[in-house]
Amino acid sequence: MNAYVNPLAGGDALFAPAASPLVDYIRSRDFDRPTLVIHRDTVARQYRALKSGLGRAHIHYAVKANPAREVIETLISEGSHFDAASRGEIELCLGLGAAPSTISFGNTVKRAADIAFAHGAGITLFAADSEMELEKVAEHAPGAQVYIRLLVGATGADWPLSRKFGCAPERAVALMDYAVTLGLAPVGLSFHVGSQTRRAEMWRETLDRVSGVWAEARAAGHALDLINIGGGFPAFYGEAIEAPETYASQVMAMVEPRFEGAARIMAEPGRGMVAEAGAIAAEVLLVSRKSDEDLCRWVYLDIGRFSGLAETEGEAIRYQFLTEREHEATGPCILAGPSCDSADVLYEKRPVTLPVGLRAGDRVIIRNCGAYTSSYSSVGFNGFPPLDVVVI
Ligand SMILES: *Cc1c(COP(=O)(O)O)cnc(C)c1O
Repeated sequence: MNAYVNPLAGGDALFAPAASPLVDYIRSRDFDRPTLVIHRDTVARQYRALKSGLGRAHIHYAVKANPAREVIETLISEGSHFDAASRGEIELCLGLGAAPSTISFGNTVKRAADIAFAHGAGITLFAADSEMELEKVAEHAPGAQVYIRLLVGATGADWPLSRKFGCAPERAVALMDYAVTLGLAPVGLSFHVGSQTRRAEMWRETLDRVSGVWAEARAAGHALDLINIGGGFPAFYGEAIEAPETYASQVMAMVEPRFEGAARIMAEPGRGMVAEAGAIAAEVLLVSRKSDEDLCRWVYLDIGRFSGLAETEGEAIRYQFLTEREHEATGPCILAGPSCDSADVLYEKRPVTLPVGLRAGDRVIIRNCGAYTSSYSSVGFNGFPPLDVVVI
């Protein structure tokens, strides 16, 4: 049995993880720098599970969660569509064989030249949440289909998406009217419930609010036929979540009755597609105490906030750590990254429980971190290498 330390449990919780090809692979090899290992078959399995729950909805994988070419290739072969946020992501998908008709340009803050590029490449579906963005789309992708992104309130997600994207619901119809005057085709609405929304039930209030805007827009004469329900599908980080099929089908059961005339439904899972398909091989660089009375050890890893673990910001996403010290006694640790930046502390408010015998040079495996790690890793802040990626 492996000492599977669950920081959420707060105690000396030991779990026996199911046999994992990722863990086996990492254990059987040496790495000279932090390395994210991605298991292709798990990506395909997650796609199929989500697809089976989502039924008639089209999956547009949110490329930013993990843009590894093998991930995109696997998803293309499974039949996935893609949500891209930039020219770079569009080129990545097109270059690997995705059809332009399967790519949506979902960022509501686009570079004008990128809109023109996308239009030239045959992409016809764009997001917007403001007048000026509609003007850019109308100028550089004349006649395009647009969906209006709504700002939805806090839903209890572990990684909420703040107020950066979306317009207030009461502005949506006016934006659609404006889109029509610009020669665009306003076809629908989108929203995001917040990333890592652990229970499907947490979608209900948001869906009620969005469906109110949907009905209002249709009553105002906009023949909407596209509802884009965004991402939010959770990954397992130690707290119970529903299986992806179950979760997705519960969401769809709430979506279907609320959006009359929605011939097209889009979902944009990112995290839920790839998080569980990845594990990071990391190493302990140092274990120390600040004073003789210190209750908590400080454990410094060779990976930190700037080299892949950005989602530890605010201790929002709590990863699970696996060490080689099976059956050893454990104790609380403050976990930190290697860089000389004081923000590079991963977990301090809620310390992590790790074996007391942990030493410099020990291997640490970080589980279920295939989403938002390699794509967040800096090119080499402070001289530490960006996260290496290996796909098996
Ligand atoms: C990032 C993003 C997603 C993916 O969100 P997850 O919570 O990872 O599923 C979906 N849609 C849009 C527009 C995004 O920006």
